[in-house]
Amino acid sequence: MRVVGSIRAGDNKLDKLQESCGVFGIYAPSEDVARLTYFALFALQHRGQESAGIATADGQKINVYAKMGLVAQVFTEEALSHLSGNIAIGHNRYSTRGSNKECNAQPMLVGKDNSALAIAHNGNIVNAEFLFEQLSEQGYTFQSSTDSEVIANLILSAPEDNWVEKIRYAMNRLQGAYSLTLLTKDTLFAVRGPLGVRPLCLGKIDSGWVIASETCALDHIGATFIREVEPGEIIKINTSGLESYQVKSGRRALCIFEFIYFARPDSVINGRLLSPARQAMGAGLAVEHPVAADLVIGVPDSATSAGIGYAQQSGIPMGEGLIRNRYVGRTFIEPDQRIRDLGVKLKFNPLPRMLNNKRLVVVDDSIVRGTTTPSVIKELRRAGAKEVHMRICAPPIRFPCFFGVDMATRGELIAAQKTIPQICKFIDADTLGYLSIPGLLKAVALPPDEFCLACFTGDYPVPVQLEMDKLALETKQMQRVLSQAERR
Ligand code: SF4
Repeated sequence: MRVVGSIRAGDNKLDKLQESCGVFGIYAPSEDVARLTYFALFALQHRGQESAGIATADGQKINVYAKMGLVAQVFTEEALSHLSGNIAIGHNRYSTRGSNKECNAQPMLVGKDNSALAIAHNGNIVNAEFLFEQLSEQGYTFQSSTDSEVIANLILSAPEDNWVEKIRYAMNRLQGAYSLTLLTKDTLFAVRGPLGVRPLCLGKIDSGWVIASETCALDHIGATFIREVEPGEIIKINTSGLESYQVKSGRRALCIFEFIYFARPDSVINGRLLSPARQAMGAGLAVEHPVAADLVIGVPDSATSAGIGYAQQSGIPMGEGLIRNRYVGRTFIEPDQRIRDLGVKLKFNPLPRMLNNKRLVVVDDSIVRGTTTPSVIKELRRAGAKEVHMRICAPPIRFPCFFGVDMATRGELIAAQKTIPQICKFIDADTLGYLSIPGLLKAVALPPDEFCLACFTGDYPVPVQLEMDKLALETKQMQRVLSQAERR
């Protein structure tokens, strides 16, 4: 979900939002669906920590409760008690600067009476600005400034008279990434965009069905994994049972960062459990970038599995050299630079007894802006490390993401601005090795055409011409500033 425009007084036009969220849906007549959704949102908390919400339906009406904060902060017994019904959807959200407003929290409700629709969205719509303008001209008003509300209103605007056809109408116009759970007063829908950028899976619970961003949410509520929701598929669940409609398909583009970083290691995507896939990334790094060292550590938690893989492949012992404070959010997607910088110190505590006088291999999932890694290395050296050899699972990130991941602008991406030796010097590592794209694809052991690799290659699976034009302009402006600075 991202911000597409400024609609209400006080909203900020520069308010950019790109994020990876968690979505959930359940149809289960004999269950406390709000409570099960609450537990599922706990399991998906790693996908979004800024707001959380649940919408339920009982055949007559839809109730929504969504607020800023972690799942545990948002919901009370009282709030859950008002969420009655036999169908529910839930959402955890990430956002960036300026967009952390309650009006953008989801699920979001649009329309009323028989056309009321609640939406929970993970992804980013590339042509949202255009659709927003079109819908505004048609008289649609917006309560938030997100592309998720654009999707919901686009569905409502369809001339067709049944929900599946309305969703199909919207899918034919949307470009980008979207995994959705939708709720009408009596039906649950799951929709996955044709590219399949964001994951979505289907599970079975005693008396009903469950939809979730990741399989770990199914495990936590005792549901059984049935299958992935296919790219381009609409699933409809109500008293008539489950129906599936394949609307669109073509090039697939699952975000490779789900494998590297986003999803939990105990989730299964495209039939692959992520923990061993990440171990294989670490093993690949050991083959591509061997080094003489005394100890391997993985930057916790997302690179722990990769660290194990490096250690196993290289024969260098694995140890715990950094302890993570689990209750501080990920620096990758926190709202601004000042908080990101502070987050590094709050987040990791090195163990001098493990590290003193050691030559370390430090395995991490990615380097984005290059703001976190120098601080981690500094802390490791301060704790006594003799050498620090950084090994990174993600190949160099040289292009921004237009599909919902807040990385940075191109100007902020360190690998777009510096060579690998320059980055090594900048982060103050003794050596630096990135896993190659072929090495990464070998580790995930799935066909390359299943994935989006655009932030490594610049080969976007849909046209992003407008954004690319903005990038070109930004690069030209930056070059002008640099050359002016050089002349001075
Ligand atoms: S550009 Fe990168 S982060 Fe964005 S969807 Fe593609 S692989 Fe994922």
